[in-house]
Amino acid sequence: MSQSFVMVGAIVVLALVVGTIVGVGWFSGHAPAEGGVQPVEELQLVGLAEAGGPPDKVQFAGDRIPAETVKPVPFNAKRAMGYLEAICAIGPRQSGTGGMKKQQDLIQEHFEKLGAKVVFQTFTAKQLSQKKPIDMANIIVSWHPERQKRIILCSHYDTRPIADQEPDPRKWREKFVSANDGGSGVALLMELGNHMKDLKTPVGVDFVFFDGEEYVFNKTDKYFFGSEYFARTWKAAKDRPDYKAAILLDMIAGENLRLPAEGNSWFRARPLVQEIWALAAELRCSAFQNKVGERVMDDHLALQNAGIMAIDLIDFEYPHWHRLSDVPANCSADSLDQVAKVLSVWLQRVK
Ligand code: ZN
Repeated sequence: MSQSFVMVGAIVVLALVVGTIVGVGWFSGHAPAEGGVQPVEELQLVGLAEAGGPPDKVQFAGDRIPAETVKPVPFNAKRAMGYLEAICAIGPRQSGTGGMKKQQDLIQEHFEKLGAKVVFQTFTAKQLSQKKPIDMANIIVSWHPERQKRIILCSHYDTRPIADQEPDPRKWREKFVSANDGGSGVALLMELGNHMKDLKTPVGVDFVFFDGEEYVFNKTDKYFFGSEYFARTWKAAKDRPDYKAAILLDMIAGENLRLPAEGNSWFRARPLVQEIWALAAELRCSAFQNKVGERVMDDHLALQNAGIMAIDLIDFEYPHWHRLSDVPANCSADSLDQVAKVLSVWLQRVK
């Protein structure tokens, strides 16, 4: 996800009022990426005010299994942190490099051992600023692949070639392991994988790791190669899975995690936002804030544009974003735990 693509939206505390966005515009003056968002004039913030109360019937999962019959999985957040450290110990995992190959092997071995079906969706991508195209791969890890009705939990897994938020540009090319941005989603899903085989859910679940989200060298380069390829391929397939919803994880492990409802999720997949934030309130996962945050251009937009109800869980206030200090020591087991708790209960309640 990129600063260039962050829209300044109104941040409306407590989501109780009907407001108007002022000052909508691109931070950097960039045009939106393909399929970008339209400016929205009015916010009607009613749903989030109800988070904590019972969600209404028209929401995503409709008649759900009551909360008291559903428990979170025994997610081992310490072990998840161990996975995060192992991923970062590889070093940078930039698309098309040896570090990425090592990570792909690690992911494949991990999930195959746990009994999931692992498929590499390979493609080539040419970045505008680069001379040659490179090979990329999304990894699709499927639980109960025979089920037609499915859910996507996804994250990008590549890291950015340069740490371009370091104030001193001489540091941009130093070793950048990008723990929270690119590592945290992988680590959470690796740990969740330990609980997926026995999870009582009627849906099939695909963990999708997107390549080419961070393969960016300058301001005019393109983002989201992997998610766009995935969405296009899904849309064109005859016998495609019936994806009921998708949740993107991006920077979900920072200390003092803050997850306002990301703006593009709120505007374009509101029933799912309401569902997830209401559940978080019920489970007392306080990282999920009862407010609407910035609109962020991220991998979920490609899914939304293909017609999948998709939201982004993202902490855009993470102070180490695109800095050399984005290391496991600045991430927190409690943050991973809160997100996993909400996801694991939700997966058992969807129908
Ligand atoms: Zn990033």
